[in-house]
Amino acid sequence: MDYLCAQSTGISMILCSNPLAQYLSQKTEIDEAIRRVLDSGRYVLGPEVQAFEEEFARYLGVSSGIGVGSGTEAIHLALAACGLQAGDEVITVSHTAVATVAAIELAGGRPVFVDIDPVSYGLDSSQLEKAITGKTRVIMPVHLYGQPADLDAIMNIARRYRLRVIEDCAQAHGALYQGRRVGSWGDLACFSFYPTKNLGALGDGGMVVTDAPDLAARARLLRQYGWAERNMSSLPGWNTRLDEMQAALLRVKLRNLDDQNAKRRRLAQFYTGALQGTDLVLPRALEGTTHVYHLYVVRSRQRDKLMNFLRDRGIGGLIHYPVPVHRQPAYQGRIGGAARLDETERAAGEVLSLPMYPELTEPEAQQVVAAVLAFDGEKI
Ligand SMILES: *Cc1c(COP(=O)(O)O)cnc(C)c1O
Repeated sequence: MDYLCAQSTGISMILCSNPLAQYLSQKTEIDEAIRRVLDSGRYVLGPEVQAFEEEFARYLGVSSGIGVGSGTEAIHLALAACGLQAGDEVITVSHTAVATVAAIELAGGRPVFVDIDPVSYGLDSSQLEKAITGKTRVIMPVHLYGQPADLDAIMNIARRYRLRVIEDCAQAHGALYQGRRVGSWGDLACFSFYPTKNLGALGDGGMVVTDAPDLAARARLLRQYGWAERNMSSLPGWNTRLDEMQAALLRVKLRNLDDQNAKRRRLAQFYTGALQGTDLVLPRALEGTTHVYHLYVVRSRQRDKLMNFLRDRGIGGLIHYPVPVHRQPAYQGRIGGAARLDETERAAGEVLSLPMYPELTEPEAQQVVAAVLAFDGEKI
């Protein structure tokens, strides 16, 4: 939605993300994959989906993938596969895409928020134990902006309290934590293939992955009416399926994912080198992690002025996210838990995402840097 807004202004902007550029860079292969599906007569949950599930699971180092309709549905399905009951508590963060929280409620869970660590933007593991109650069933860290959350500490606490961990990996396809892909740490993990994500479809899509055969089997049943065989529901499921066209083109894009993430990292390195010495707080990749820069997020006390300044110069910065979930009308006063969320509130007022996608050209990156430096020079 973000990028569509930017395009509809009609002026040529350097967009924050650019799925069209991504499609064009692999157009021949993607068109060929789509044509293959069109001619096959199989359009939903067929051989392309199965192949993509296997390839993506292997890429992550887990045994199973279950393709679904979106990232939101992946979270819904993962929670259902864990047997979440109405009123069970799921600990997560408020500084995230609303989808994380919406999906918890869709599954009947009660979201409980923990503050974020201001460097990783992930769940602050030092605040985690305080949030655990007798009703807690699941911890859901979000690897925000492409940076892995503090998995070691989170996994240790989860084991101690016998809680499930479900990773929200919607912004972190390919990111590594201590040499292992995120998505292979928790009991289950959830991915989105929304067009702007690091691995993006040309439509909606998502996947649940897991290394546990029993959880995989339950998720697979629940995805399609609980059917073990056609027209015989063995569990009360619903429908959230991945289609063949998205799976076929995602297979093409998966082959290029590591290259594309490397390009994002090079662009991040360029920004960080060029913006050193300004008033901005720049993103830092934590030791032992490989950040995949879904977004390049800087912080400024003058964030709104900076954003307008950039926009006037044809640069589309965006805010991820301007209002924490617990402050939004749908949730305010109704959910949250007891914790103070000071870092969450502070981040919402200061973060700004600069243009970040693998196809961004060097002159464009220089234009972004020049505009930010001009703003910093004026010290408005
Ligand atoms: C995009 C996103 C989702 C949801 O994915 P959809 O495919 O849009 O439903 C969930 N969590 C996070 C952190 C996201 O960025």
